[in-house]
Amino acid sequence: MHPFSYTRVSDTGEALDAGHRGGRYIAGGTTLVDLMRETVERPEVLVDISGLPLDEVTVTERGGLRIGALVTMAEAAAHPKVRTLYPIISQALELSASAQLRNMATIGGNVMQRTRCTYFRDVTADCNKRASGSGCAAREGFNRTHAILGASDHCVATHPSDVAVAFAALDARVRLTGPDGERQVPFADFLLRPGNTPQREQSLRKGELITAVEIPAHPRPLTSGYLKVRDRQSYEFALTSAAIALHIRGGVIREAKVAAGGVGTVPWKLPAVERHLVGERPSAPLWAAAAERAAVGARPLKHNRFKVELLKRTVERQLRIVGGTK
Ligand code: SF4
Repeated sequence: MHPFSYTRVSDTGEALDAGHRGGRYIAGGTTLVDLMRETVERPEVLVDISGLPLDEVTVTERGGLRIGALVTMAEAAAHPKVRTLYPIISQALELSASAQLRNMATIGGNVMQRTRCTYFRDVTADCNKRASGSGCAAREGFNRTHAILGASDHCVATHPSDVAVAFAALDARVRLTGPDGERQVPFADFLLRPGNTPQREQSLRKGELITAVEIPAHPRPLTSGYLKVRDRQSYEFALTSAAIALHIRGGVIREAKVAAGGVGTVPWKLPAVERHLVGERPSAPLWAAAAERAAVGARPLKHNRFKVELLKRTVERQLRIVGGTK
């Protein structure tokens, strides 16, 4: 591990000052400390923000849900409002990591976590994300777990978060504060596709800090859930996943929100699937036909062609579960 200095801040202004001077924010530390041990990350200054008052789940004036950036994954998953209004979030969190990690890791850190591409974590391998311009060992290497959607010639790594897929499906917004004040970014714009700058992963400005993730109020009640498909039943990242929320009234699907994980360089919204569902009556043939549209635009690599079919089946199965028709 490279030498670094550590400072613990007690208010947001102090944090922003330190962040603006180049400090790296740390709270649960469950990803960053691992990467520092492996010398993948070499921050010179760590700014411990775990004492900031960003640890509450609240219902907003407009009826949305605000999850503070320092709420732990376990706290968010167990919160009564999250469980009743958005079980999709609780399920995604509970299918992530181990109980010990969920007790430490925060919502802000989860969204910011870095890829599990093995070449990224191997400092002897070429990796544009870790060392810009060095190449991408995964493109010609073993790429079974990599992305089939949103990749570029420079990087094909997936985003590893489960709850980020649920946030994307629900059109969440990321609340930020920084030297230029507060702002909100739609979740779909917060995490960046690799393009030719895979080292740049979020649309954060220098020194900005995530304060919360906010789920907008949905005037129509949603039935929702998260399905994760992986090589083993626990402590494993998704090969594919599906986050689905539906509003069905009078036997007709009035609203559909669908996103996939494990397949994209960012959580992947599936608008073609959503469009196929809205205005239709739930049925097994409808689920199958909608799921056929899940992999539109997919460009599989040598070892992950199976993900195309697996993604369709994951979406179809979760539509059956959430939509209630066998
Ligand atoms: Fe690095 Fe991305 Fe290539 Fe993995 S896929 S080796 S993270 S550039």
